[in-house]
Amino acid sequence: MTWLVQPRLVNDPFSDPGLFVDFRFGRRALLFDLGDLTPLSPRELLRVSHVFVSHTHMDHFAGFDHLLRLCLHRAGPLQLTGPAGFADRVAAKLDAYTWNLLDADSIDFAIVVDEFDGRVRGRWRFLARTAFARQEAEPPLLASGLVLDEEEFSIEAAGLDHATPCLAFALQERLRVNVWREGLDRLGLPVGPWLNGAKRAVRRGDPDEGVVAIDAARTITLGELKRDALRIAPGQRLAYVVDAAAHAENIDRAARLARGADQLFIEAAFADEDAALAAERHHLTASAAGEIARRAGARHVTPFHFSPRYLDRPELIPDQVKEALREFG
Ligand SMILES: [Zn+2]
Repeated sequence: MTWLVQPRLVNDPFSDPGLFVDFRFGRRALLFDLGDLTPLSPRELLRVSHVFVSHTHMDHFAGFDHLLRLCLHRAGPLQLTGPAGFADRVAAKLDAYTWNLLDADSIDFAIVVDEFDGRVRGRWRFLARTAFARQEAEPPLLASGLVLDEEEFSIEAAGLDHATPCLAFALQERLRVNVWREGLDRLGLPVGPWLNGAKRAVRRGDPDEGVVAIDAARTITLGELKRDALRIAPGQRLAYVVDAAAHAENIDRAARLARGADQLFIEAAFADEDAALAAERHHLTASAAGEIARRAGARHVTPFHFSPRYLDRPELIPDQVKEALREFG
């Protein structure tokens, strides 16, 4: 069974935070945070359709220019989601440059910005053809807690306290439905677009008695198709949790968002002996990150965003996170 997306950290754990989520099929990718993006190739960055920015401290947002410069000449829109006030930050970035060569004949590139504070409440557009003048738009109709809702996956967000709102994100794939070619052959059925409809019906949870049309003459029940020619598995859940103070409310919220994560990417900026420093900087300690991972029931945990003060002891924080996972477990 193949999963829809494959995540990887953009940088090593001591450098800028960021997660690149690549789709296995089709030319598409997502990004969580926009720090230093230099390890990503132009080809990878041009695949990015949506970016989710936790907050606009420089190490999470300084890569905006890098991405913009590459995307400026592509036709597909770039959608960005961030916390309240985010559209002002994007507008300020765009205001820093001279756009006198852009006009109505320019390529139709658009930046779409959503702001989330428990739900998506605002949307703005900045079009290359209008030299990135800010335009208010209708916010998307999304359920509370969601920042994106597509046929194959959705993305949830939760606001954490980092002395400024900081968003954590969780990507949930819907049921994975793969076609088993041999089973299809045995049923004497052709590969074709009709299978997409069948896959959609499974993801929707349609009953087994439901009928799927193969062509004008033939039908099959969903139950038969599932038994003989489809392989179905739960989709994976990925969670991305960065800068947050290590207090109870943040730990609760982050653990709830990351519940059941197959992969949890979580900041752990400070070692436990530096808890006072972590509190001062509003960051998680290693044991707080471990506690979140344990309470979430995360299957695989990748701690990152370590303070450079531990560069000579790269295993210190990962070891403390592991220990905290055991201790609380
Ligand atoms: Zn920060």
